[in-house]
Amino acid sequence: MDLQILPVTAPKTPIKDENELAFGKHFSDRMLVMEYDSGKGWHSARIQPYGPLTLDPAAMVLHYSQEIFEGLKVFRRPDGKLAMFRPADNVTRFNRSAERMCMPEVDEKFFLDAMIELIKLEADWVPHSEGTSLYVRPTMIATEPMLGVRPADQYLCYVILSPVGAYYKGGIAPVKIWISDFYVRATEGGTGEAKTGGNYAASLFAAQEAAENGYDQVLWLDAKEKRFVEEVGSMNMLFLYDGKIVTSPLKGTVLDGITRRSVLTLVKEMGYEIEERALSVDEIMAGTSNGRLQEAFGTGTAVVISPVGSFCYKDECVQLGDGQPGELTMKLYNKLTAIQYGRETDNHNWVTLL
Ligand SMILES: *Cc1c(COP(=O)(O)O)cnc(C)c1O
Repeated sequence: MDLQILPVTAPKTPIKDENELAFGKHFSDRMLVMEYDSGKGWHSARIQPYGPLTLDPAAMVLHYSQEIFEGLKVFRRPDGKLAMFRPADNVTRFNRSAERMCMPEVDEKFFLDAMIELIKLEADWVPHSEGTSLYVRPTMIATEPMLGVRPADQYLCYVILSPVGAYYKGGIAPVKIWISDFYVRATEGGTGEAKTGGNYAASLFAAQEAAENGYDQVLWLDAKEKRFVEEVGSMNMLFLYDGKIVTSPLKGTVLDGITRRSVLTLVKEMGYEIEERALSVDEIMAGTSNGRLQEAFGTGTAVVISPVGSFCYKDECVQLGDGQPGELTMKLYNKLTAIQYGRETDNHNWVTLL
């Protein structure tokens, strides 16, 4: 398939004051688009001006949520080079989500190369300040106009780019976690391991409840017993418990995070033992007072690492340690960001330089 490049007629100026960058609010001038028709496959790949899509009101995505997405970042290094973090892993996961949602897979090499072409054309949109990046959002939607529940025959796949500010402006801040004892995010056999919009739509109500109570994020427990930790919002959860790293296993209800994967590699190299098992809510609540729970943090592309300062479950709220980010948490945050921005050697082949 060829990649057509269409001219931008009315270019915008990237935001000058990078302190004003929020997350996912500003978008660059161009987007990558390709279309799929069953029997024909993917076609009409092009880089075109960023702008609204034309969709039939009956487009199946709008009714039955056949949709998947991804999220990855491009970093501008002090020497001016642009770096992507494990982009091929995102493309592979995009295809895994596609399979789960009965959507067509993309050609991984073509898609990644086209994405890189788009980023190169939009290089001016990668912000310069410490902690900023260009967030890349691949998306696929079912566009066939049809009211009926079955996999669609037509799809649109696109990639948009959003310059994002430093997540932690006033230093890395611990979050307050609300443990939901009623609502659940994913069940065994459900779609928890796919990066699909429906999982997020289903999570909004509990997140709203947490926000009303002054909490930043919802920690989801398993759907069967409502006892075991699964994940948090758009992050995987890792704990330093009894000196070991504990994190939920990937058994279909938890998203296979690329940051999680990277952190597990780093802690193993630091000599930590890893237990892929679900920590129970009792271990969390008791662990903060008996000292067995030493640190807790979330991992995800947007935040990299997010330390947890306190947990609230039913009517009990507990602070973890002194409420400040743990030592290992900070070490991992610094190490991962150093690899991304090129301050530390990339010994794992995680970085793709453009
Ligand atoms: C994207 C996502 C994550 C984090 O994955 P990364 O690859 O590390 O960005 C974790 N949980 C959910 C539910 C997600 O959608």
